[in-house]
Amino acid sequence: MENWSIETKEMIQDLQTLIRIRSVEGEAEPGMPFGSGPAAALEEALRICDRLGFRTENMDGYAGFAEFGEGEEVVGILAHLDVVPEGDGWEFAPYEAHISDGKIFGRGTIDDKGPAVAALYGMKRVLDSGISLNRRVRMIFGTNEETGWGGINYYVEKEGGVTCGFTPDGAFPLIHGEKGIMDVKFSQTFPQREMGIEILSLDGGNAVNMVPDAATAILGGDGVEAWIQAIQKEVGEDSPFKLESQGEVWSIKRIGKSAHGSTPEVGENAISHLIDFLVQHGIQDPCLNSYMELIGLETDGDSFGCKMSDAYGALTFNVGLLHYEKSEASFCVNIRYPISVSEELVWQVMQSHASVEKGWEAEKYSHLAPIYREKNDPLVQTLMDVYREVTGDVESEPFTIGGGTYARAMDNVVAFGPGLMGSDKLAHQPNEYIAIEEMIALAEIYEKAITKLAK
Ligand SMILES: [Zn+2]
Repeated sequence: MENWSIETKEMIQDLQTLIRIRSVEGEAEPGMPFGSGPAAALEEALRICDRLGFRTENMDGYAGFAEFGEGEEVVGILAHLDVVPEGDGWEFAPYEAHISDGKIFGRGTIDDKGPAVAALYGMKRVLDSGISLNRRVRMIFGTNEETGWGGINYYVEKEGGVTCGFTPDGAFPLIHGEKGIMDVKFSQTFPQREMGIEILSLDGGNAVNMVPDAATAILGGDGVEAWIQAIQKEVGEDSPFKLESQGEVWSIKRIGKSAHGSTPEVGENAISHLIDFLVQHGIQDPCLNSYMELIGLETDGDSFGCKMSDAYGALTFNVGLLHYEKSEASFCVNIRYPISVSEELVWQVMQSHASVEKGWEAEKYSHLAPIYREKNDPLVQTLMDVYREVTGDVESEPFTIGGGTYARAMDNVVAFGPGLMGSDKLAHQPNEYIAIEEMIALAEIYEKAITKLAK
């Protein structure tokens, strides 16, 4: 730490203080709607903001804000203080905020506590400069971005939107559009049949917006022993399949590769691969056959009838959950549809094939509309100018994503940073870190962005 300025040292310490709070959503308690972790992180962040000289308010534990300046109009910076669970595979303890090789390691360092603290120090510099502004500058903290947006929605209900702003929770140079996101559950009851091998159950997945990393089928019936013997050669030590005898029945588990629901093509869907394997190896079952006809190993919705794309990207199709037991089957799909396509059209094509022809009852249970701003939009241009000036990168262009950021929570907000040095790839992964050099650069970029937007 010896060479850093006093300001940088304080910035690092404030980030470390926040990283040491495990702000994963938990059981609600009085005044802590998302549990004690997110509530403690919000209190600590507001304490830091008090010390930096901002006016602060804690909104019943749901959200909070810190601001300075005068005026009706508000420049908003939207960040979140909650984190996803740490998972396994860490080299340094995930909540110690250990510094090694110029990097701060820990859950939340890049997503999103590091960028939030850097933006606070950018705000602090604008405040200290004494420069006269026409708008107030307000940092808005949400506390359950990863698990449902109750916090930011509570804020919008009470305080409304902002004049303009950004969320440091996406990527550089800037995200000017986000695809529509729809979660749909499909259910069907299949007739019971007598046959040699019976599927007693088939389950997979943890969340609709993740590529499932495991799926397990329990097989029984007269023919199961012979079938297991026949496939055992194929399912060796280093295959992704695990076989286990459980008395009369056998379990067959397929290990997949997890990935974010917006990029199903980079993962390996354990549900789809397990079903594909069973069908390829002679298991006859109407539910499995229907699944293969509609989905198979696809991640673009082609056989489902909803393959589509526009200039900003194609629809992605992820089966995140499946449960099949006693003839009752259901699976949940997370799709990210192109920015220029209407929700109605997507919903129609989702249903037409699967429901009308294949008998699956469809229920849409979650939807986020796409957002889009032109590249010549004044907010986009102002922020792009700042990015180019500070980084010298004049090549990179604004782009669109399938993910969802707080830019969707209110009008005239875009995702702007972080990830100057590649560490954004480690969001939600083990060994998440932010480089101290990036913290310094972020504070400078956000200082300049705030100054331009608030003038
Ligand atoms: Zn985030």
